[in-house]
Amino acid sequence: MRLQVLGCSGAEMPGHNPPALLLEETILLDAGTVTGVLDEKAQGKLRHIFITHAHLDHVRAIPSLADNLILRHGEEPVRVHGLERVLQILQRHLLNDNVWPDFTELPSTDTPVLAYDPMPPNVWKEVDGFRVMAVPVNHSVPACGFVLERGGTVLVYTGDTGPTEAIWKVNGQVNAAVVEVSFPNEMTAMALKTGHLSPELLGGELGKMSTRPERLLITHLKPQYEKEIQNQIGRLGFPSVHYLKEGDIIDL
Ligand SMILES: [Zn+2]
Ligand SMILES: [Zn+2]
Repeated sequence: MRLQVLGCSGAEMPGHNPPALLLEETILLDAGTVTGVLDEKAQGKLRHIFITHAHLDHVRAIPSLADNLILRHGEEPVRVHGLERVLQILQRHLLNDNVWPDFTELPSTDTPVLAYDPMPPNVWKEVDGFRVMAVPVNHSVPACGFVLERGGTVLVYTGDTGPTEAIWKVNGQVNAAVVEVSFPNEMTAMALKTGHLSPELLGGELGKMSTRPERLLITHLKPQYEKEIQNQIGRLGFPSVHYLKEGDIIDL
């Protein structure tokens, strides 16, 4: 399982782009940063986008991607997967023919660029050789994390979340967990208010897992507090912590 980090920041600044992970060559986990870093050929290989929630920093590259893909001819639509409520928000408020065209009807309803594929929570779905499950998490808007499995390798991606429960109850060994930590401990109240984690909250969350993940991959840090957050997570003493960086390629 190869993961390429296209963006992993909790804010946008030069050198810091919003979240998107490329899985193999065909699957995106969130789409905050795509068209600015993948060339046209790589964009053309994308087949599935799994969206954790409809906040702009996780979906903002979908409009520009759709705009590029419309130049292809006669290919299958890119399927956008997520909780039904999340896809409805995208359809009503972003790709709504006002803010941006509805690419589920372009270039025609027979051969659209995009297709929505709602996921019932906590049910496995088979996609391109992977099993993927959407597990609701606790953010300020409807949101889920994803559990992915292929050939016995298990990846957990929380998306944006405050303290939550179900996503930590994955059976068996988790090979890697991509977990958000947005704020330092001094801002734990802000993290709780906005549905995010701080290092001290992360400690409590990982304590809910029956077995710690083999690798802990931290994402979505506010760049202004990067050092502080890393120092505070370091003091928790977890082995195998890695702070995602744009351009990282991680083989699981
Ligand atoms: Zn969010
Ligand atoms: Zn976010």
